[in-house]
Amino acid sequence: MFDYDDQNIFAQIIKGEIPADIVFEDDDFICFKDIAAQAPTHLLLIPKNQKVASIAAIQSEDVHWLGAMMILATNIAKDHGLNDSGYRLIFNSGEGAGQTVFHLHLHIIGGKKLSGQMV
Ligand code: 5GP
Repeated sequence: MFDYDDQNIFAQIIKGEIPADIVFEDDDFICFKDIAAQAPTHLLLIPKNQKVASIAAIQSEDVHWLGAMMILATNIAKDHGLNDSGYRLIFNSGEGAGQTVFHLHLHIIGGKKLSGQMV
């Protein structure tokens, strides 16, 4: 169900084959602006070295990098001034939840008053 395709759009961004508005990058992660932002700040945080299609596909051995990814997300949110206004970290898992790109990614969304409605 969550097969990984090396040619997915985020894999191409990681390889620099297509451009993105990158706000953070190190050896393990890349974070860039969502092309169709749904809030004043809408970033996508992505592991660079993991061929994982979805949060539903992670295994227990992924705990270390996934933990690092979550801590990094909170630091990026803080750096973008989102601590005061509040923000959401969202993994969409599966087409039923709106997942369209099957390379694991975390949405960092904020910069405005977010609806109390979750769905
Ligand atoms: P999903 O719906 O899979 O959870 O999130 C995928 C996100 O990737 C969407 O919010 C979509 O706007 C964004 N996206 C899709 N293609 C591109 C692209 O080529 N560049 C960037 N920066 N974002 C993209």
